[in-house]
Amino acid sequence: TGEFTSLPDIEQNRLQVVKSTNLRPPPPSSSLVFGQVFTDHMLMIPWSATNGWDIPKIQPYGPLSLEPCCTVFHYAQTVFEGMKAYRDGNGKVSLFRPDMNMKRMVNSAKRIALPTFDGDALLELIKELIRIDKHWIPQESGYSLYVRPTLIGTHKAIGVGPPNEALLFVICSPVGPYYPQGFKPVALYGTTEFSRAAPGGTGGFKLGVNYAPGVVPQKAAAEKGYAQNLWLHGPEHYLTEVGTMNMFVVFKKDNGALELVTPPLDGMILPGVTRDSVLSLARKHASGKNKLDGLTSDFIVSERPVTMSEVKAAAEANKLVELFGAGTAVVISPVDRIGYLDEDMLIPTGSDGMGPVSRVIYNELVGRQLGTIPSEWSVTV
Ligand code: PMP
Repeated sequence: TGEFTSLPDIEQNRLQVVKSTNLRPPPPSSSLVFGQVFTDHMLMIPWSATNGWDIPKIQPYGPLSLEPCCTVFHYAQTVFEGMKAYRDGNGKVSLFRPDMNMKRMVNSAKRIALPTFDGDALLELIKELIRIDKHWIPQESGYSLYVRPTLIGTHKAIGVGPPNEALLFVICSPVGPYYPQGFKPVALYGTTEFSRAAPGGTGGFKLGVNYAPGVVPQKAAAEKGYAQNLWLHGPEHYLTEVGTMNMFVVFKKDNGALELVTPPLDGMILPGVTRDSVLSLARKHASGKNKLDGLTSDFIVSERPVTMSEVKAAAEANKLVELFGAGTAVVISPVDRIGYLDEDMLIPTGSDGMGPVSRVIYNELVGRQLGTIPSEWSVTV
């Protein structure tokens, strides 16, 4: 009794590095397509129920060897993250709010009984991986390194249960700007046939299982001429998310004030890092703590449910100011049209493709990501 049985957590000090002997030249930035090319190295940390987290290794990027019985292949025991590292003109590399990605990954892991870990230790190891492959980060503005931490269950047995083995790995991909030719507003299909998430389900976590079922609805929307699904929930048709982005809408109130609205984190909404950043910038502006140039001072920020009938009524009364998606890959994605119940609803956008709120927030956000606006959100690698 009283025996100390706690197993090892991720130990950044025990990192082993095996450098690739076959270093590849990074491709020209102009040729990059999102998520197609990977850097020379990856981080690997195995876990077992008997021994806890094993020694972390940085090793050449390459295939994994896994038995076909592994639970990840059958029961989608997989969680992932997505964040970006930026390199400025002086070669300084930074991550944007990576602590939030680490916390979200631990929460996601808990939801599907994968092992949890010390997010700070994982972050230090990710920084080391980025330092080793830092010459892969394009320096041109709008370019970055997309970092993809993943945790899979590798239990070698058929049967659903908590895995007795798991593998955490991190790979990195140099990526370009989502809109190389400037902002291009997208059309959404308000889908009532499919749902992305449900109350008590897994929509609020970044699990692999949430994404494969979105492919068919995405194809169906594309066939109808829309870029993404606007995921609607319930008979009230609550707006939830846009494709794989969080969603914001701006209404003009009767007194002329602008209201920025996003659905609350009710378990169906992924707690996006971009979402939180947009809210935080907007709230500081609204409270007068950190005024943003170009935004009206009569400004309200709400996390509350929004239905399609509210959006439709606002559009008809000329009180719908703008609607946009927000996420790491694209930052802000303005919307100019929603197909809903056999009708197209038009949404205003400016000549630059953006709206009065998203334009201001976008510049504030990107400045903090690139470090041109100093902020605690930018973490040096
Ligand atoms: N919703 C979903 C379903 C997503 O996959 C993502 C991308 N992670 C987001 C929202 C946006 O989250 P973030 O701002 O952290 O990228």
